[in-house]
Amino acid sequence: LYNMVQDLKGNIRVYCRIRPSFSYEAKTVIDFVGDDGSLVILDPLKSQKDGRKVFQFNRVFGPAATQDEVFKDTQPLIRSVMDGYNVCIFAYGQTGSGKTHTMSGPSGGSMKDRGINYLALKDLKSIFLTKHTLEIRSCTGDNGLSLPDATMHPVKSTADVLNLMKLGEVNRVVSSTAINNSSSRSHSVLTVHVHGKDISGSTIHSCLHLVDLAGSERVDKSEVTGDRLKEAQYINKSLSCLGDVITALAQKSSHIPYRNSKLTLLLQDSLGGHAKTLMFAHVSPEEDSFGETVSTLKFAQRVSTI
Ligand code: ADP
Ligand code: MG
Repeated sequence: LYNMVQDLKGNIRVYCRIRPSFSYEAKTVIDFVGDDGSLVILDPLKSQKDGRKVFQFNRVFGPAATQDEVFKDTQPLIRSVMDGYNVCIFAYGQTGSGKTHTMSGPSGGSMKDRGINYLALKDLKSIFLTKHTLEIRSCTGDNGLSLPDATMHPVKSTADVLNLMKLGEVNRVVSSTAINNSSSRSHSVLTVHVHGKDISGSTIHSCLHLVDLAGSERVDKSEVTGDRLKEAQYINKSLSCLGDVITALAQKSSHIPYRNSKLTLLLQDSLGGHAKTLMFAHVSPEEDSFGETVSTLKFAQRVSTI
């Protein structure tokens, strides 16, 4: 079954993905990317000897990694939904680090280089038996504060799914901040519910959550005020709650603090128990992102079971 190899890999895993540099002039902070999931970065203000920071993940995808390579690695995990397992895949990282690229694909909506959302749906659809139904629930967290009414949509084709995802993108709250003119300050969640029977005839009801999180960058209190500041604080709170939940799960703690945020409540069924969780920690390679890159990698290391 799809799940057999997955069981060997454990229920929580963390991948890191480094996006290509936008500029030829900008120096990169990435020193080494290992096949074994190791990553070394260099503090631009320190010497080669003192500025090295070493991290270890389940996998690291360098700037040259293609969408297909990234998908290939997540495909068995996604397919374990067909064995009745709940699965949750997150994209975490600062704004501009490539979260939406990994989950949805390049901006502009071209069909080339589609991301995990699309490839996963296409893949599940291709292995679905006719007695299965496929329903997509598309909902967007509103500032991490409350969830607007989510809707269920039966879909017939991957084109239907693409249209739904576009709608979700339009509904997504995008506002200007001092840090970035078009930073996404909301979480976007695409949920696939699978109902059916497995080969032994028992009923399966499982779901796959595909989550493109709001940017993880810390907001300078001197630069934003009022609603924007409140919003930033809610986002940071929901992200740290998510980290707390995954950390508690990784440590097999007796209390898992799901109730501390709407995001973790929404995803509760797919975090913990027999559910499988994959976090993509996204980083930008440029020197001026070094501070955020370090916090992203530390966060990811904290939730990792390695
Ligand atoms: P985020 O969602 O984290 O804010 P985006 O996914 O929008 O970041 O990425 C920022 C920009 O970088 C986009 O123009 C995107 O197409 C591009 N980009 C991100 N990751 C990659 C990648 N792996 N390969 C090529 N372009 C990328
Ligand atoms: Mg984005």
